[in-house]
Amino acid sequence: MNIILNGASGCGKGSMAGFLTRDFGLVHISTGDLFREQIAKQTPLGKKVESYVSTGKWVPDEVTIEVLLDRIKQPDCAKGVILDGFPRTLNQAIALDKVLDIDLVIAIDVTDEIVQTRLGGRYMCRQCGTIHAARWDKIDKCKKCGGELYQRDDDKAEFIQKRLENFKKNNGEILDFYREKDKLFIVHDKLENTPADTYALVKDVVAKL
Ligand SMILES: [Zn+2]
Repeated sequence: MNIILNGASGCGKGSMAGFLTRDFGLVHISTGDLFREQIAKQTPLGKKVESYVSTGKWVPDEVTIEVLLDRIKQPDCAKGVILDGFPRTLNQAIALDKVLDIDLVIAIDVTDEIVQTRLGGRYMCRQCGTIHAARWDKIDKCKKCGGELYQRDDDKAEFIQKRLENFKKNNGEILDFYREKDKLFIVHDKLENTPADTYALVKDVVAKL
């Protein structure tokens, strides 16, 4: 059983993947992590990936798919995988469709307000790097080491909005692609929902596969 998790950053894909891994024995695969692993191993494929990443270039779709398939054929993926962060474009979705059977695409639909609230509330410790939800916890010092907290540039409202607009621009046609194949399940998240609430909407659908 292979599942794609789709949603803007801040939509809670990480938590969702954690629950699915626990309940269904699927392996959570993020292409960013795979790139780092391949580069660290310095395999021929890893070196190929490195040649793009180290020069700040976009890794081409066919290379990304090669990396994915290499991971998916490992024995721990026998029950299936959860793809996170891929496909990001329609072309990637089309290319993936030729080499891997996808059973379900779970799209977590979040409003701009949710993303802004979740990501915009993040503050990082200058000393130890721990991320805190400072705005909600009402703290101004790191809970671990007492260090000063600051907001990273990419957690500031205008960056979050820009990233979100970018995401939406590509995502509509990806969702259409899977909708036509009758594989799309959209979860509408609410600001007051916990990750467990959102997962409750997904679990039944996956269990029926
Ligand atoms: Zn700290």
